[in-house]
Amino acid sequence: MTPRPTPPSGFGLVVHQPLRRRHCAGCRRGPLPLLVVEDGAPRCLDCADLGHLVFLPRGDTALTRRAREESGLSAVVVRFNRRRGRYERQGVLVEEEALARAERRCLADAEARRLRRARDARRRAAGDARFAEAFAAEIRRLFPGCPAERARAVAAHASVRGSRRVGRSAAGRALSEGAVTSAVAASVRHLDTPYDRLLMSGVPRNEARRRIAAAVEAVLAGWSQARSASAG
Ligand SMILES: [Zn+2]
Repeated sequence: MTPRPTPPSGFGLVVHQPLRRRHCAGCRRGPLPLLVVEDGAPRCLDCADLGHLVFLPRGDTALTRRAREESGLSAVVVRFNRRRGRYERQGVLVEEEALARAERRCLADAEARRLRRARDARRRAAGDARFAEAFAAEIRRLFPGCPAERARAVAAHASVRGSRRVGRSAAGRALSEGAVTSAVAASVRHLDTPYDRLLMSGVPRNEARRRIAAAVEAVLAGWSQARSASAG
């Protein structure tokens, strides 16, 4: 038998998944699916006093960590990888009760995370609504001629979370005149001018913008003049 590296220290108690047929040096049972090497001889889990442990395959790191924490006695299961020339973890052996407790802790965590996500979503939605309301009010202040329905639509659009639209930018957050005007202009561009049609027919964006610039200006001017008119 060619000498093999020993499993890395820090594994604690090590149980092997043998590559070859092995029998227990104590009770002669075999071939063994899992064994412990004691004084160079293989022993079955029962003879090694590990027979009561259950196998938890690798894959769920949190569950594995917790099962080992909960387990007074635990062992790492390794298999030798000939090609790589090293032992590889296959999972752990833990007490059945410990595994059950670990599973409950993981479930409780998942539930806590779910509740926290729902709470965050509600808070964000409330924040979005407040922001959209303020945005719409600012639109109506700068452009009194803009229909209220339109102002609400622009504001809602601008405040959609996660979008890169102006409403979520720092300027939009501050409800600066520039940010509000540019959100309204964007809406006008798409709804009150042939901008989208020009783009669809292959007109380059800059050229399309140039062609509709006057129309956008006219609408914005009309909406904002209603301010002076109503003020006067
Ligand atoms: Zn045995």
